[in-house]
Amino acid sequence: KQYLEESSERKRLYNEVIELKGNIRVFCRCRPLNQAEMANGCASVAEFDTTQENELQILSSDSSKKHFKFDHVFKPEDGQEAVFAQTKPIVTSVLDGYNVCIFAYGQTGTGKTFTMEGTPENRGVNYRTLEELFRCSESKSHLMKFELSVSMLEVYNEKIRDLLVDNSNQPPKKLEVKQSAEGTQEVPGLVEAQVYNTDGVWDLLKKGYAVRSVGSTAANEQSSRSHCLLRVTVKGENLINGQRTRSHLWLVDLAGSERVGKVEVEGERLKESQFINKSLSALGDVISALASKTSHIPYRNSKLTHMLQNSLGGDCKTLMFVQISPSSADLGETLCSLNFASRVRGIESGPARKQA
Ligand code: ADP
Repeated sequence: KQYLEESSERKRLYNEVIELKGNIRVFCRCRPLNQAEMANGCASVAEFDTTQENELQILSSDSSKKHFKFDHVFKPEDGQEAVFAQTKPIVTSVLDGYNVCIFAYGQTGTGKTFTMEGTPENRGVNYRTLEELFRCSESKSHLMKFELSVSMLEVYNEKIRDLLVDNSNQPPKKLEVKQSAEGTQEVPGLVEAQVYNTDGVWDLLKKGYAVRSVGSTAANEQSSRSHCLLRVTVKGENLINGQRTRSHLWLVDLAGSERVGKVEVEGERLKESQFINKSLSALGDVISALASKTSHIPYRNSKLTHMLQNSLGGDCKTLMFVQISPSSADLGETLCSLNFASRVRGIESGPARKQA
């Protein structure tokens, strides 16, 4: 009974917020200046309002200031706990039967992987989410039975690769998005590994990350040019009324959004950057179409959006982290990312606000 009350209270609060703001959120996270940037004398171009948790200003090269507003802005000193505290209500709603998508978007080196994956000492959203899902499902075990499973995949040059299958000795199995008899988009053949505790999850994630870096001479290089997706499937059974739910939570570390310099662009690199551009703009188009409540949503324009179709739109919840660097050397890319995120959210960016 207590669980049902809590769950309906959570839903009520959520619906209130959705009515006010819609179910698409954009959080901005700015990483700290790194040692090399400090040694090179790069200044920080990001300014934060100490009284407003959702605004930032970027100092442009002509000394003008551009003002941006998101659902939340994380400053360089904000740690993984602070980020997860804001993310937790969104991810845990998968236990209430909602489909949820979380994306990390931004230039390579701005902290997408740090936010999602984190490090063993400083775990990111992925691990903390699973930890929280286990905690919640444990505390409700007398009322709800939950079964959690995990899939891990990569989209590189519009090809899907299963990261829970070690293909190093054979050609990778080809995976495609197919429509099921129920009309949902599925990836037949994708491994779905049931998980029982955080240790099991951590072992699985390590395996997936290891497979990801095999087959590429420059692992870091390739990982910045592919999208890495962790999918958590939650099957729930209400022990009181027998009602069953199945929902997906997608945790997505996107390919780097940077524009590639003209000189470098040829051969493989050209193909890669065209695929990345295509899929990131397709994602932006889908989210902004959903935010503006347009009737046609162009899901089919990329593998990524096609695969996520059932988890984007409707009453699904979407969160995008736009990751930025504070360095003056990255100003151009930072403005591109912030403009992209503002467009996605349907918010226009503007000149600096007048200081009171
Ligand atoms: P991306 O995935 O966007 O290419 P990474 O997550 O690899 O970027 O981050 C680049 C480097 O910056 C890493 O060494 C990472 O640990 C560090 N870093 C990123 N964000 C933060 C942060 N908020 N606090 C501390 N270090 C960070």
